[in-house]
Amino acid sequence: MNLKICHLYPDLLDLYGDRGNILTLASRCRWRGIEPDIQQASLGEDLDFMSMDILFIGGGSDREQGLLVQDLMRREDELRKAIENGLVVLAICGGYQMLGKYYQMANGERIDGLGILDVWTIAGTKRLIGNVVVELNPTILEVDSQRLKTLVGFENHSGKTHLGEEVSPLGKVVFGNGNNGEDSGEGVRYLNVFGTYLHGPLLPKNPHLADLLLELALKRRGIDTLLLNLDDRLEELAHKVMVKRLLKQA
Ligand code: GLN
Repeated sequence: MNLKICHLYPDLLDLYGDRGNILTLASRCRWRGIEPDIQQASLGEDLDFMSMDILFIGGGSDREQGLLVQDLMRREDELRKAIENGLVVLAICGGYQMLGKYYQMANGERIDGLGILDVWTIAGTKRLIGNVVVELNPTILEVDSQRLKTLVGFENHSGKTHLGEEVSPLGKVVFGNGNNGEDSGEGVRYLNVFGTYLHGPLLPKNPHLADLLLELALKRRGIDTLLLNLDDRLEELAHKVMVKRLLKQA
């Protein structure tokens, strides 16, 4: 069995080790005997979203977002169809912003987004930088009693994202800023699309989220099995050490 995982704009959107999320998904597949088929696509390169299982989009500076917006716009219909069909997407920071309606940069210029997510982003005057701890919203990310109930990561963004009626945040910020530093929401979930401001990379210290993405991708393929449990003691320890250290500072 294999899973097709695609990294969109790896040369333009890859901050704070974002590509580490691809490596994490690939390893967690292999450790369960699932063969990851890693693909990449960038400016001008065609991509069949519907045949993908997981799409990953990283973060990037305003300049990079400006460079890729036209290329991204021509993919709107196909990506929207695949997302409505349950494509699993993990989008970090700049990538998350570009799936929304627009991103108004600090210089006042507006970059149109795909408008697939009911969110919009307006740059503030102060960058939101630092470590983040998020208490997961159990309805968004099915958290079983055994697993971690938080997300940890690192943020660096000027954009402040606001959520519309159609979507919900991944959780509540207990340390850091999150979407906008005002409403204590972090990230978003819409169907199988997960947007977040958390770099790091995110998934190595959040194996529960990595496994949810894999389970949702298998379910979309009609393979409704629980993934084999892995020995995540190191990942969970790294996660818990960060949560403890940061909440002590809170
Ligand atoms: N350029 C965007 C911002 O500043 C996204 C930054 C990022 O991806 N880290 O908000």
